[in-house]
Amino acid sequence: MIGLASPSLTRGICAPARSLAALTRRRLGSARNARDRGALQIVSEGTGRFIVGGNWKCNGDRASVTALIEALNGGDVGDNVDVVVAPPFLYVDQALSELKSPMQVAAQNAWVEYTLEDETHHYDSDSGAFTGEVSAEMLEDMGVPWVILGHSERRTLLGEDDTMVGKKVAHARFHGLSVIVCVGESLEQREAGATMDVIFKQLRAVADEIDDREHSSWGSQVVIAYEPIWAIGTGKVATPEQVQAVHAGIRQWLKDNVSEEVSKATRIQYGGSVNEGNCETLARESDIDGFLVGGASLDATKFAQICKSSAVHYKAVGRA
Ligand code: PEP
Repeated sequence: MIGLASPSLTRGICAPARSLAALTRRRLGSARNARDRGALQIVSEGTGRFIVGGNWKCNGDRASVTALIEALNGGDVGDNVDVVVAPPFLYVDQALSELKSPMQVAAQNAWVEYTLEDETHHYDSDSGAFTGEVSAEMLEDMGVPWVILGHSERRTLLGEDDTMVGKKVAHARFHGLSVIVCVGESLEQREAGATMDVIFKQLRAVADEIDDREHSSWGSQVVIAYEPIWAIGTGKVATPEQVQAVHAGIRQWLKDNVSEEVSKATRIQYGGSVNEGNCETLARESDIDGFLVGGASLDATKFAQICKSSAVHYKAVGRA
């Protein structure tokens, strides 16, 4: 657990990834040594269960979805890990009834109406003339416990901006849904040294909307998926050091801008070309609390192996 929530860490976040990673490692190292001596108050690192999400995106048909669910049910994802799979909307109901507990189901999106000029409009109902959309209200009605929001494919292909994603998160929380909210930078933004600025802006929109929305809350039910756009579906995975540095920065931001309690309780997943071969190395990092998996989640055996990397994580952070 890192404890060193100092302004210098926050300042360092905009530094190039390698030096930031080094800074984080130094801080982690010194925090661990101090913890061993019992001298330091531990103020960071997640405390929640490892969580692995499978984002099936717009893939599959009746036969392949049935086969995938059967294979997941027959497999072994390990213990002490939350597993959430997100089929396309048409197959959500099937997954809800056929997927064995404790594996859970997520939708890949939920509608929120926010274009009304009336700023006091509190989204009490999402029913209406929104052709093709599915609302958080409907997900709640169907008993869908999770929703993925703000995936970069929706941001880039469908034009969802930070505010819209923030409103969707706040509204989904209002309906009691647990949320995986995706954040992450493009390659251009990373190369320009803007990674953390981009992510903090995305997080700010979520925090503001949750604050603004009556009966919405962050709690421990908002999972953040850090998904660098350049690593999604490209086979180009971010290094453990790059991911750890960003996750530590996110956790620090939560501490400074939401609360220390939320910063500890929030699970931060990494997503971007995670597979059965690289998951264990990534899982060793203290602030990687799970994965959001695209391509490899369509193969039950590979996905189960990724879920089982939870054991490596707990061991690495001394929670085995
Ligand atoms: C994703 O789309 O959320 C994702 C991480 O995809 P992939 O694992 O295929 O890179």
